[in-house]
Amino acid sequence: MIHLKNQSQLALMRDAGKITGEAILAAGEAIKPGVTTAHIDHVIRTYIEKCGATPTFLGYGGFPASACVSVNDEVIHGIPSQLRVLKEGDIVKIDVGACYRGYNGDSARTFAVGKISDEAARLIRVTEESFYEALKVINESARIGDIGHAVESHCVRNGFSVVRRYVGHGVGAELHEDPEVPNFGAAGHGIRLMRGMTIAVEPMVNAGAAAVYELPDGWTVKTKDGSLSAHYEHSIAVTDNGPELLTKVD
Ligand code: MG
Ligand code: MG
Repeated sequence: MIHLKNQSQLALMRDAGKITGEAILAAGEAIKPGVTTAHIDHVIRTYIEKCGATPTFLGYGGFPASACVSVNDEVIHGIPSQLRVLKEGDIVKIDVGACYRGYNGDSARTFAVGKISDEAARLIRVTEESFYEALKVINESARIGDIGHAVESHCVRNGFSVVRRYVGHGVGAELHEDPEVPNFGAAGHGIRLMRGMTIAVEPMVNAGAAAVYELPDGWTVKTKDGSLSAHYEHSIAVTDNGPELLTKVD
């Protein structure tokens, strides 16, 4: 069931989204060679709690940390660890949710650790671009398939592939609400977008093949071929005036 948000609920979504986006920026400032992924998680948790919000991911389905921190060929759901030290040339995906007065923001971004390869930089750029290609088609007459079609076409055009096993989603009082928002699809197909819908659009893009697998830790998802993966996500409200980015603060 899709929960449409009224103006007061949207106002709370904006507050939650702002905290989420700011937590990601705080993480970005802390990312450098020699830092552990557990430290990044600590920075995020501290920032969210300072804002009077709670980290949505902490304890979600049993997840043991406040943020997912996934490095290189890890696609999503990486568990922060004291033993995982970031090094020059890594790319690191930070995925954060913050819950404020009952509503959630959900956002993710891929950061470079020091100097990275041209190919890694291109992967990050194309992944972000694919999100903004999708944003262009989001309006009240669009369908869910238009979003996935826009994301996938841009990635394939650039020689990359989108992950199919994990998808975007509605977001609101629950972190994951209906509808599913795949990063692939046929234009003109799927349910129609409506004013008051709030969705997380989140391209997960691999430099190699689309196939992924989950580690025995029950969380970390990696590319099957060991290729690099990038992730970019914002929570978006569908409004009369087009899409509104709820988690973008920079
Ligand atoms: Mg997320
Ligand atoms: Mg999400």
